[in-house]
Parts: sequence; structure tokens; C-alpha cells
Amino acid sequence: MTEPALSFADIEAAHRRLAGVAHRTPVLTSATADAMTGARLFFKCENFQRMGAFKLRGAYNAIARLDADRRAAGIVAFSSGNHAQAIALAARLLDSRALIVMPRDAPQIKVAATRGYGAQVVLYDRYGEDREAISRRLAEERGLTLIPPYDHPDVMAGQGTTAKELFEDSGDLDLLLVPLGGGGLLSGCAVAARALCPRCTVIGVEPQAGDDGQRSLRAGHIVHIDTPDTIADGAQTQHLGHFTFPVIRDLVHDLVTVSDAQLIEAMAFFAGRMKIVVEPTGALAAAAAFFARAPVRGKRVGVVLSGGNVDPTRFAALIQRAASPAPAQS
Ligand SMILES: *Cc1c(COP(=O)(O)O)cnc(C)c1O
Repeated sequence: MTEPALSFADIEAAHRRLAGVAHRTPVLTSATADAMTGARLFFKCENFQRMGAFKLRGAYNAIARLDADRRAAGIVAFSSGNHAQAIALAARLLDSRALIVMPRDAPQIKVAATRGYGAQVVLYDRYGEDREAISRRLAEERGLTLIPPYDHPDVMAGQGTTAKELFEDSGDLDLLLVPLGGGGLLSGCAVAARALCPRCTVIGVEPQAGDDGQRSLRAGHIVHIDTPDTIADGAQTQHLGHFTFPVIRDLVHDLVTVSDAQLIEAMAFFAGRMKIVVEPTGALAAAAAFFARAPVRGKRVGVVLSGGNVDPTRFAALIQRAASPAPAQS
């Protein structure tokens, strides 16, 4: 086995850097959700994080770790989603500059939000050009540091602070459910779980249409897929990372999937019963608990709600498709 990409000490160090910068988000509970599932659920609400998702944690930690010269030269990142806004905000907080490579057809609201945090946006043609190649070229030409959305030890360490706070606030857990895209959040949380509650089972949850993580675990190597068609836009990744995959393989007990319809039911539950807005990707872990995709009954279960960034109009349209105001008993 190769040296793991990150240790719990890296997560503790990241947590110290984030003190006073990232919110310590609340852990909410719901008697209705508990009755529905027969479990005791602890929701870690990163939908209340600054910029609306956990991604600020990793982005800030990664930029804070750069030396002053590299920080001053600036950051480049490619993303149409939460990573873009996280890098933009973190760069501003750390007196750096961010250049974000986004597809020309990205939602206007996301381009505007990224610019609103002070980043410069470079648009590219999603069908004709490779965003990674563009970002690398810009990094080289302008002396910028490329910070990827998940496959980076400092990003993973930052994301792991989410689970560290959850264990500190909720006490021992039997099971931890974490959304999975490229695996930055899951790998960081798994390292935190092993250190703080070694008997806790860790399960990652990905969209049914994007089950590359599950397939990768079975195959024993990273499996690549086409961009999956799912409403969970934060988990439309095509493959796990070279840093995240080994950590997930070694520390995560299982990966399960949920359907878009189940994500919608979970979002409707949070809006209707708990009065909180959770974006589709943010509802992955909760949907697994609500629809018994993971063995929650009789257990104390941590559920990471990873983000809340969804356009209100789209949110309304999505939850209108929900079959019932609360998901069926599982
Ligand atoms: C990015 C993102 C994820 C997936 O995180 P990874 O580190 O890529 O696995 C999950 N939820 C939300 C809200 C995200 O923005």
C-alpha cells in the first residue's frame, strides 16, 4: 500500500486554519425523520456553510497552504458549480486572485455569483474544448496555481473537517452517510471517522446514473464513465481521483446509489418538515437513509447535507414533482 494522501493531523491543521473563517454549521435532528426511518439521524447542515456548501473548507485550506508568492500570483480552477464559488471566496479572503474556467452555457446565476465573489471568469465551449487543458495552459502562461475540485490532499483535508465537527457535536455514531462525487468530501470524512470513532461504518452515496464509484470499488481500479445524467449536478463527475480512490478503497465500507426521484422526495421532506433548502446533490446521503439504501434502522447515523445552492425557481419545479410531502416509511 502507498502512503495515504492525508492523515487526521492534516484535518486537525485544516480545522485550525478554518477557525473563524468557515461556519461551524449546526447539526439538526428531526423526530419525524427518526420515526420514518427507525434511526436516530444527525444532519450536518453544510447548506448553511458560507457560499452555501462544504467546498469552502477545502478551497480555503488549499489556498492558505500556499506560500505568499504563489498566493499573490493567483489561483486557477475549473468548475461550473460550488468549487468555483468556493475558490472565488477563499481567494478573496486570503488576498489572492482567482481565475475560474466555466462553460459558456453555465447558468448565468452561477457565473454572476462567481464574479460577485471577485473572481475573473473565462468562458469556454464545453463541446469543443477540454477545460483541464485550458486551465493548465492558463496556469503555465500566467504562473497561477491550479486547485482541482477534489483530487488534492489539502482539499480533502479541508472537507474532512465537516465530519470532525459532526463527531464532536453528535458524539459516537454507528454509521456515517456522505455524498460522493469525485470523493474529496468522502475521503476526508472517512479519515476523520477512523480517528474519532473507529467503529463507525462509513458509506458513500452517489447518484444511480453516476455509479462509477461503486464500479471502481468492485473493479479495484478507477472506472471512467460519461458525464452522468442526474439532477445531482455536484456529483456529475466522471471518475474518482488518484488521491481520493485509495483512501475510499481502504476506509469506506460501502458505496450505495439513490435515484433522482428519491433525491426529490428528500428535498421535499427538508423543505416541508425541516424548513431547509437542500440542493439535489446535498440530499444524496439523506435519500439513502430515507429509502433504506443503507442499514440505518436502530442506529445513530450521521448524515452530511453537503449544500443548498439551487436556484429558487428550479427548486420549486423540482419539489413540485415530489410524490408526497414526506417520503414513504422505509
Ligand atoms: C462537490 C459537491 C459534492 C461532491 O463532493 P466530492 O468531493 O466531489 O465527492 C457533494 N455535494 C455538493 C453540494 C457538492 O458541491
